[in-house]
Amino acid sequence: MSDCIFCKILDGDIPSNRVYEDEHCIAFHDVQPAAPVHLLVIPRKHISSLDALTPQDQELMGHIMTRIPEIARNQGLEQGYRTVINTGEQGGQTVFHIHFHILGGRQMTGL
Ligand code: 5GP
Ligand code: ZN
Repeated sequence: MSDCIFCKILDGDIPSNRVYEDEHCIAFHDVQPAAPVHLLVIPRKHISSLDALTPQDQELMGHIMTRIPEIARNQGLEQGYRTVINTGEQGGQTVFHIHFHILGGRQMTGL
């Protein structure tokens, strides 16, 4: 998707601080961190949101989920972390390339 910020990050057209990558996904630091550690994990495939998932994406989503603990541990989040997926406008989604937030490095409160 030519106008997608995260596709541009994947292509290297927008710089990012990558902490993990494999053939299916990459993880990088959020540019506006909401916690001492704030990472985003995205698939290489452009999928706009949870709402756009198809049964063909099941394995890919499972792959990302199972990589998250390893990515978090490698960033020092042994004490725990929060994982968030915002969906749609009212869900607070601002970038329409599906992504998993990993937040940690402090006590997470509230929701
Ligand atoms: P959302 O609100 O869609 O769940 O999350 C989008 C996230 O992407 C936000 O936390 C925002 O700070 C982050 N973000 C937006 N543009 C960029 C960018 O160009 N680089 C990086 N690293 N993060 C970005
Ligand atoms: Zn994209």
